[in-house]
Order: sequence, then structure tokens, then C-alpha cells
Amino acid sequence: MISKVIAEDLIHKVQKEIDKAETMVIVVHVGPDGDAMGSALGLWHYLMTIDKEPQVIVPTAFPDFLAWMPGADKVLVYENDKQKCDEIIAATDLIFTLDFNVLNRLAGMEHVIKDAVAPKILVDHHLHPGDYAKVTISYPEISSTSELIFRLICRLGDFSKINLACAECIYTGMMTDTGAFTYNSNKPEIYSIVYELIKLGVDKDDIYRRVFNTYSADRMRLMGYALYQKMKIYPENKAALITLSLDELKEFNFKNGDAEGLVNMPLSIDGVLFSVFMREDPDKIKISLRSQGTFPANKVSADLFDGGGHLNAAGGESYTTLEEAVRKFEEALDDYKDFL
Ligand code: 5GP
Ligand code: MN
Repeated sequence: MISKVIAEDLIHKVQKEIDKAETMVIVVHVGPDGDAMGSALGLWHYLMTIDKEPQVIVPTAFPDFLAWMPGADKVLVYENDKQKCDEIIAATDLIFTLDFNVLNRLAGMEHVIKDAVAPKILVDHHLHPGDYAKVTISYPEISSTSELIFRLICRLGDFSKINLACAECIYTGMMTDTGAFTYNSNKPEIYSIVYELIKLGVDKDDIYRRVFNTYSADRMRLMGYALYQKMKIYPENKAALITLSLDELKEFNFKNGDAEGLVNMPLSIDGVLFSVFMREDPDKIKISLRSQGTFPANKVSADLFDGGGHLNAAGGESYTTLEEAVRKFEEALDDYKDFL
């Protein structure tokens, strides 16, 4: 028996909103990852089985390695289809915001969602949820939003409505947000849920292969280059930094998702507890931070790069040059020695 986790009154509120609504929009954070897509499409499949009309809208494109997900072909990408998305959002009865805590994680889609008249339901596992939603289902101790979607559907009394497609999406999010169950994955109930999903027909080995073993040769070469030429180690700080400039990314025909997982790699070096990856985008520097144990990646991100996230996985942005972002990082590193 899986414990309840989501408070009873929240379940009633969600039920009421779902009953009232016919059309629904599901949105996730910019640069959708496996959990964003898994939770959104998991919920989408469920809502279809109860005869609602849901539409998933993502702010920017999702990576190719998630394109196989059932329902991914029905997802609208806001930045490619603004007018159509604006019309759908303006007319919808209900909006689910999944896998992020504050509306600025929607980037270019922030204002249209903020201004939408439809009530919003937040389902998320990041710290410090904003107060924009009519119903806020925020459980940072849960390792993925996809797991929360599974729990939500069950608590709505609809476990029997979880079809294989829905189960595959939920499994994908649970798998990707835990690095295939290698971190943030010690809660036994995760495996009770995985057990249920496999019983529903999920082929977990095949999903692993689709997500982690379908990269391009360019991506592999980019990884090799980044690790060989661009990884800097700070032994005193048990830290590592990788940077990739726009020119370097171009050289390897960089596509969305090609740098996925790169930031985790230095953590497999003995003595490295903190890893940072800075990627130059056309309009900003995107920063990913990962740590092990109690070293607070989210604090470093909040202090230096206007970001946030989880203790061991955080992100932020910088509107400086890549060199300046590196300088800021290096100058601040010693301030965090007490956390080692
Ligand atoms: P990633 O490095 O995979 O982009 O992000 C890791 C985690 O950091 C995400 O799950 C999210 O919680 C957080 N994160 C990433 N980028 C940002 C950002 O720009 N701002 C904030 N507040 N959190 C971020
Ligand atoms: Mn997540």
C-alpha cells in the first residue's frame, strides 16, 4: 500500500476543478526534461481517458531523445506557434503547471500564463512554490513530478485509468529525475510505484535505451571534447567546471539535449563533490550545477546566478560573458568550503 502524501483537501480541490473543466492546458518549464515531459504527458493521457480535452504546451522544444514518448507528437511548442497557443490558453477552462515552482521558469510564456483567466493547479517538487495557483500541490521530498502525477491519479480513485502510454510517461520522468535511480531515489515507495508501472506493461529496459542510448555521434564527440579539453578541476574545493562557448557548440552541430548529463560526469571522479557546467546560449549563459551529499548546489546557484533548484541539482542563468561568469564562480568557490 502506497502512503497518501498529497493532502486530502488538495485532492478534493483538484477533483472539483477537473469536474468543472472541459478543456485544459498543461504547461511545463522552459527546456523541458524527462520529468517535465513525463508528468505532462502522463497527466495528458489520464485526462484523455476521462474524456477531457487537454493540450500540452511547452515553452521551448523538448530534446529529440524524448520524441518517442507517446503523445509527444501532439505537444505544442510555444515559441514556434505563439498565436495558436495564445488562443488555446485564453479559451481554456483549467491550467496545470507542472515541474516548476515560479512562473518565470516559463520564459517567454510567463505572461500569457500569468494573465490567463483559467484557474491554475500547480504540481511540483521544487522548494518554495510561488502563490499563483488556485491549488498548490508541492512536495519537494518527492523525487519527481511524474511520481506526484501517479500519486494524484491514484488518489483521484483512477488507478484503473492508467493505460500503458500513461505509465510509460510517468516511468520516464521518475527514471530521468533520479539518474535512472542512482540519486535522490532511496525512498522505498518509488519502487512500489515502479512495480505497478511494470505490471502495467512498461518495458523499463527499453525506455532506458530510448532515453540514454540514442545519442548522435556529434553528441558523443562533444562529450569527449568537453571532458578532455574543457574540464577544470579545483581539488581544494572538490569542484569541477566545464564551459562550452557558442562557437564550440556550433563545431559539434549542437542540438537541444546534446549536453544532457554532461554536468553529472565529473561527479564520478573520486574527490569531486560539486560540478558546474556553463553553456553559452545566443542570449545568455545557462548554468547547471550538481552536487553530492549535503553540498548545496541550489544555494550556490541562488547566490551567484539568480537560480535555484534542489540541493543536489540546480540551475541558473547569467547575462554576462562566459568569461565573467567563470570569474564570478572561481572567486566565490572558497566561500563554500564549509559545506564540504
Ligand atoms: P538543469 O541543470 O537540468 O537545467 O536544472 C536542474 C534543476 O535546477 C532543475 O530541476 C530546476 O529545479 C533547477 N533550475 C534549472 N535552471 C534554473 C533556473 O534558471 N532558475 C531556477 N530557479 N532553477 C533552475
Ligand atoms: Mn522534476
